[in-house]
Amino acid sequence: MADGLIARSRHRIGPFHLHRPSSLAEALDLLPTAAPIAGGVEWVEVMKRGGTPAALQDITKLPDLATIRQEGEWLRLGAAVTHRQLLIDPIVEGAVGGFRHVWREIGNPRIRAQGTLGGNLAASNPVYDLLPVLLALEAQLEVADASGTQCLPIQALAQRPRHSLILAVRVRAGAQLVFDRSLRPVIGIAAVRRESSIQAAIVWAQAEVRAAPLDDPADWCDQLPHWVDDAHGTAIYRAAVAPVLAARARARLLLPVGAA
Ligand SMILES: Cc1cc2nc3c(=O)[nH]c(=O)nc-3n(C[C@H](O)[C@H](O)[C@H](O)COP(=O)(O)OP(=O)(O)OC[C@H]3O[C@@H](n4cnc5c(N)ncnc54)[C@H](O)[C@@H]3O)c2cc1C
Repeated sequence: MADGLIARSRHRIGPFHLHRPSSLAEALDLLPTAAPIAGGVEWVEVMKRGGTPAALQDITKLPDLATIRQEGEWLRLGAAVTHRQLLIDPIVEGAVGGFRHVWREIGNPRIRAQGTLGGNLAASNPVYDLLPVLLALEAQLEVADASGTQCLPIQALAQRPRHSLILAVRVRAGAQLVFDRSLRPVIGIAAVRRESSIQAAIVWAQAEVRAAPLDDPADWCDQLPHWVDDAHGTAIYRAAVAPVLAARARARLLLPVGAA
């Protein structure tokens, strides 16, 4: 039982049960009543606003959740791997050239040391960067619930079963990635080259991200949903900057390897 903390916001963090399952079966049994916590970055924000869950379960010690490994042509990134681990692990950059730049851009050293891949995805915040990157990479999501473990395309993230755990993200090795953004979170773009084809996805506040072939940056931008004004930027600015980022990403991917 955790109790008695007072956040700087002056909200008292109420008591909650903290479970520490050691097996996936135990974690799945707990899921309907105890939500997962990994790095706790999002949960701390919730608690600072006065929301206290009745129970949480620390999933960081579950087998294979905090590991990175290559399995044949697939790179398997455990959901509880931190952004920092992803930044420094040579297997990651070896499998997808340019991947390191994504993790380097995330937050600050504290967020990178605490925050995890699965926590970022499960938070479903449309201004976070990882979903468009993984869409452009055509990644797969390994999820488990009471009925078993399955692999879903990353675009099914929001449709994963209720009471499921994200176990890992799987990315096919052998790609080159460019990730670029204007002043976050105004707009960001991830573009991936595999052999001669280039695929890109975009992130910007309040819009769906989309992955599609990036043959002609102007055409690609024309297919995007209508831009909106919000607190972070104007529609006019977004409409102007999107083709620039798209063209720049494509040009970088067409440079000889090592020159980008
Ligand atoms: C100041 C700041 C700056 C940031 N900057 C960036 C940025 O530049 N780019 C970016 O992309 N992101 C950014 N983030 C977001 C950050 O990456 C996420 O908050 C972090 O990765 C969340 O991971 P966590 O393990 O701490 O999540 P937690 O707080 O542990 O969990 C978050 C949510 O996910 C659920 N969850 C966690 N793991 C799993 C799992 N395996 N399966 C199912 N559900 C799960 C939890 O129940 C909870 O609902 C920033 C955040 C902050 C606070």
